Amino acid sequence: MTYQADNDKLYRYLFKNRAVRGEWVRLNQSFKDTLNTHHYPKVVQNLLGEMMVATSLLTATLKFNGSITVQIQGDGPLSLALVNGSDDQKMRALARLQGEVRDEMSLSELIGKGVLVITITPNEGERYQGVISLDKPTITECLEDYFVRSEQLQTQLIIRTGEFNGEPVAAGMLLQVMPDGVGEEGDFEHLATLTATVKDEEIFGLSAEEMLYRLYHEETVEIYPAQNVEFFCGCTQERSGGALLLLPENEIDEILAEHNGSIDMQCECCGTHYFFNKDTIEKLRRST
Ligand SMILES: [Zn+2]
Repeated sequence: MTYQADNDKLYRYLFKNRAVRGEWVRLNQSFKDTLNTHHYPKVVQNLLGEMMVATSLLTATLKFNGSITVQIQGDGPLSLALVNGSDDQKMRALARLQGEVRDEMSLSELIGKGVLVITITPNEGERYQGVISLDKPTITECLEDYFVRSEQLQTQLIIRTGEFNGEPVAAGMLLQVMPDGVGEEGDFEHLATLTATVKDEEIFGLSAEEMLYRLYHEETVEIYPAQNVEFFCGCTQERSGGALLLLPENEIDEILAEHNGSIDMQCECCGTHYFFNKDTIEKLRRST
């Protein structure tokens, strides 16, 4: 496969003389790493890709250091889909299935009765949570609605998932009005119309600069330096052990007895196995 510029990169940009800013992101290896440890059905893979792109674009709008979790909870065959991303663009994702998932299922068939919860956690300060009803056919449309309501700013969100050169890819763009920018009325609508014409092969295959030039060649676009996007779980033996210690002592002993004295805790996000025996559990107990 040929190397593509701007894989796993996020860019922010500004339209000169128009009160509009934009973001562009493409997930390649970071998306693959997320899928590698699981055998999710295609429709779930694509949903996670959409949520990862949304999370990346959302964290890029943060004006402080912190992380954002985008989570879907429902009573359908897909009971949970979760993506967490930090302002330095480290991301992890997982899904939980509790019933038969077929690739032709719609969002509402997959999730059943459910909500999308966005949790913004600053490294310092209060956590904020927003709950969005999943009453539109796609996550993208639900999120667009959220942006407009929470930030009171006109926002366009474009998210595409699929394959390019036989590899999974998820990419997206965000266009947003700048409240204190100087421009003319209709600037946002004009740029949104241009943005909507983007083709899959452009957003999947071109560099950000090439793509932005194709879409907006009559505009002056100021592009800021790229940020790398990567899959990063952040799990550790200690954290995994901490979860184990939440169980009552006799229950842990029972599991140990059933499993020849060794408990295998597998991380749901990245698939790493952590093993615990009587000794390591004792040590954990003493250290907490
Ligand atoms: Zn992990």
